[in-house]
Amino acid sequence: MNFAESEEIVALRDTLRRYLARQCPVEKLERWDREDFIPREELEGLGELGLCGVCIPAEYGGLGHDPVALVAAIEEIARYSAGFASYYIMCSGYGGLNIAEAGSPEQKRRLLPQLAAGRLAFSYGLSEPNVGADLASVETRAERLGDRVIVNGAKRWTSAACMTDYVYALVRSGPVEAKRRNLSFVLVPRTAPGVTVTNLSAMGHNGVPLADVTFENVELSIDDVVGGEAGWNAGWSVLAGPALEVEKLGPPAIALGVAEAALAEAWDYSQQRVQGGRRICGHQAVRHALAEARTQLQACRLMLAHAAWLVQERRPSAVATSMAKLFVAERAREVVLACQQQVMGAYGYAHGFQMQRYVRDVLAIPIYGGSSAIQRNNVANLLQLPRE
Ligand SMILES: Cc1cc2nc3c(=O)[nH]c(=O)nc-3n(C[C@H](O)[C@H](O)[C@H](O)COP(=O)(O)OP(=O)(O)OC[C@H]3O[C@@H](n4cnc5c(N)ncnc54)[C@H](O)[C@@H]3O)c2cc1C
Repeated sequence: MNFAESEEIVALRDTLRRYLARQCPVEKLERWDREDFIPREELEGLGELGLCGVCIPAEYGGLGHDPVALVAAIEEIARYSAGFASYYIMCSGYGGLNIAEAGSPEQKRRLLPQLAAGRLAFSYGLSEPNVGADLASVETRAERLGDRVIVNGAKRWTSAACMTDYVYALVRSGPVEAKRRNLSFVLVPRTAPGVTVTNLSAMGHNGVPLADVTFENVELSIDDVVGGEAGWNAGWSVLAGPALEVEKLGPPAIALGVAEAALAEAWDYSQQRVQGGRRICGHQAVRHALAEARTQLQACRLMLAHAAWLVQERRPSAVATSMAKLFVAERAREVVLACQQQVMGAYGYAHGFQMQRYVRDVLAIPIYGGSSAIQRNNVANLLQLPRE
């Protein structure tokens, strides 16, 4: 058992830390948060560092299949901004990973080099007004007319749809009775006639605004179905395929990065703030809160690293990735709240420090990417716990 990170991952973290320290001053992060927008050049900057191709084969300009590198990059970026880490996933994961795993040869040739360069990003179109955890019940419809595909329906909570190039949308492509057998993924260009994007307002993850997206007689071709002709009605196997294992690691990697940033701020603050004649880091309650937070994050780090290693090695990983999503999202939330409430007091609630942003961001993570309850279901079901 080797607990040391490889030289490549150490170098990746080092390069990215130096880049982010230069590129992401706190004024910029506050602007992204306030304006709920991150310029495209920021993604292209990550592309220039070679980070957007960590799940894209070398023949298309990427670095191969490297979920461990993906997770490390997400964690590092999330220390600065959960929104920026999400935007990065929209390029490297929703885009690069999914097309590398499930795209047709023509889609790979056309899209992967652009994705590897950070010049394309996909929004994920799974949720709908009537569809949350139960994804197999999607109502957005795709109809075949020869080689044409007509899409009608509505997607909800489509992060960054106003900023990305395509909505990678799960659609019903046959009779509803067949549930999982009649689903497909389509790539809908954001600027296609019949697509309307309406931003929504939320408390956190700013920079990649949530949006409602409606499709009204949007005309695509069979080449826009993910996987081409072979992908028609194959959406469920794409959704539940190998890419899912990598995708489950994204939200906990964001959670870990946000919680590490919160702990760093609280750790530092505890050494500046004086109460009762001594720095608050000298009060046992505060010391214990900080020591507990460090311990929890160390457990999160190991759990996530183990799950990512299983995925990288293409070993069975479904239980480990669900446990990592569940555990890290829940513990990170506890850590951030402890840092805010037990260490920083009112200063953790007010604007001026970043803590209030970390709190707003971390609260979303047990909700999306398969909620904590859904991950508990997964773990119990995968381990074949009887229901009766
Ligand atoms: C910041 C943010 C970004 C998001 N970005 C995207 C995005 O880019 N694309 C996208 O498609 N969606 C996105 N979502 C939506 C997200 O994926 C959904 O919120 C999530 O799937 C849960 O759906 P829901 O909120 O409708 O909750 P529901 O499914 O209605 O669930 C409500 C509650 O019931 C529980 N529950 C539901 N079913 C079960 C069950 N079978 N067993 C036990 N408990 C259950 C849930 O855990 C939850 O606590 C985003 C959400 C947030 C907050």
